[in-house]
Amino acid sequence: MKKHFLQFTVFAFYFILFTSAIRAQTAPPQELNKREADLLELVKLDKTIKLDIRYATADNFVGKAVYPESRAFLQRDAAKAVARVHQKLKEQGLGLVIFDGYRPWTITKLFWETVTPEQRKFVADPAKGSKHNRGCAVDLSIFELKTGQLLPMPSGYDEFTTRASPDYVGGTAEEIKNRELLRNLMEAEGFTVNPNEWWHFDYKDWESYAIYDIPFSKAENADKTKPKPEIEERKEWKKFFDAADVTGGIYIYDLQKNKYTIYDRQRMNKGFVPASTSKIIHSLIFLDSGAVADENEIFKWDGTKQRIAAWNKDHNLRSAFQVSAVWFYVEASKRVGREKMQKYYDASNYGNRSTNGFGSAYWVKGNLLITPREQIEFLVKLYENRLPFSPRAISIVKDVMINEKTDKYILRAKTGWSDAYTPNVGWFVGYVEKGNDAYFFATEIDIKKDEDAARRQIVTKNVLRSMKIIE
Ligand SMILES: [Zn+2]
Repeated sequence: MKKHFLQFTVFAFYFILFTSAIRAQTAPPQELNKREADLLELVKLDKTIKLDIRYATADNFVGKAVYPESRAFLQRDAAKAVARVHQKLKEQGLGLVIFDGYRPWTITKLFWETVTPEQRKFVADPAKGSKHNRGCAVDLSIFELKTGQLLPMPSGYDEFTTRASPDYVGGTAEEIKNRELLRNLMEAEGFTVNPNEWWHFDYKDWESYAIYDIPFSKAENADKTKPKPEIEERKEWKKFFDAADVTGGIYIYDLQKNKYTIYDRQRMNKGFVPASTSKIIHSLIFLDSGAVADENEIFKWDGTKQRIAAWNKDHNLRSAFQVSAVWFYVEASKRVGREKMQKYYDASNYGNRSTNGFGSAYWVKGNLLITPREQIEFLVKLYENRLPFSPRAISIVKDVMINEKTDKYILRAKTGWSDAYTPNVGWFVGYVEKGNDAYFFATEIDIKKDEDAARRQIVTKNVLRSMKIIE
C-alpha cells in the first residue's frame, strides 16, 4: 500500500513537473486592462546613472550573457522616480548603479530553460512573468561618483543567502547604513523593496502594466522619441487603382525610415468602420481575456445560414480569422462583455474606441471608426509587442495573421468589408517583415460590386511590388 502511494507520489511529481514545463512555454498569465508600454531608457534621463548590467555579461548566476546589450529601461513614471533618487544621491557625492531594469519576457523564459532545477526557485516562472517584464522592477545599488566604486552592502548582488534580505541584521554598521540609505530614498519615491533582495525594488503602479516582450532594440517609447514621420504623396499611384477599376487609397509606412508613402492624402485621416480588420484586435482581446482558450478552441455553428458559405460550419479562432466568420467574433465578444472590450480599446487606443451596438457586429455597422493611419499605428505597436496583451496572445495572433511567407519576407494581413455603407468599405491592412525592417500598409477602397473585393489585395500587392517590398 505504502509502495503504491510512493509510486503515485513520484508519478504525480513528474506529472506536475512535466505539465508545468509545458505551461511555462505556452501560457503567460491572462490579464485584463493593462497599459500600453511606455518605456524610457534610464541613462537618457541622466547620463551619470551608472550601468552595470550583469545579464549582458557572463558575470551573473547563469554564467553567460543573456542580454544582447547593456541597457536599462523602466516605465516612464518609474524611470523618472529612479532619476530623482539619483539626483538626491548626487548631493552626497553618490549615484545609482543599475544592475537590471525592464526585462523582455523571452529572457525570463530563457532563464527558466537555462538554469538547473535547483536554481529555479531564484528565477521567475515565465508562466507567471516577473515585475521586471512589466518594466516596473529595478535592481540597483549605490556607487561613489568620484571613484566609481560600489558602496559596501551586506551582500553581493544576486547573492541568494539570508544576507540578501533587506532586514538582515548582521553586516557592518557601514553596510547597513548604505542599505538603509538606498531603501529610504527608493521608498520615498514609491518603490517597495523585495523581502529577499535588498537591491530589488518594485514600482507602485506595476499592476497596471502588462508583461511585455519588447526587445531592447525597440524598447523605448517610439511615439515619444521619434520625430514626426515624413509623408510623401505619390499621385501617380492612381494608376494602380485605375488598372483595377476601383477608387480608394493606399498608405505604406516604412518603420526604419519613419516615412509614409501615400495615395491619396484625402482619406489618410478619415475614419471608416474597421469591419473585419478589427479581428486583429478582437483576437488579441479574446485570447488575452481567456474568452477563447486558444486558436484551436471550437465554437459550434448554431445552424443559422449566413451569406458566406464558409461561415456555415463550426469554427475556431484560426479558421474564423481566415474566412472572416463574423458570427464567431460576435459570440466571442459576448463572452468578453462590453465593459472589458471598452477597456481594451481604451488601453490600445484603437480608432475612436466606440463599442456602440455591442452584441451584434457593431464593427461592421456601428460607430466604431478607424483611419488608415490609425490602422498602421496600431499594427506598428503589434509588431513591436507594445500592446497591453500577453506575449502569448500576441504571438498566436501574429501567427494567425500570416498571409504569405517566403525566404525573403513574411506578409501578415487582414481584409475587411462592410456592406453597411454605399459604396461598401473595403480594407486590406497588414505588414511585411523583411530582414530588420517592417513595412506597414493600409489599403481602403470603395467596393461597388462583388468583384471589387479581390482588388483590395491586388492593388496593395502591385504597389508593394512596385516599391520592391515584395516579389
Ligand atoms: Zn530584480
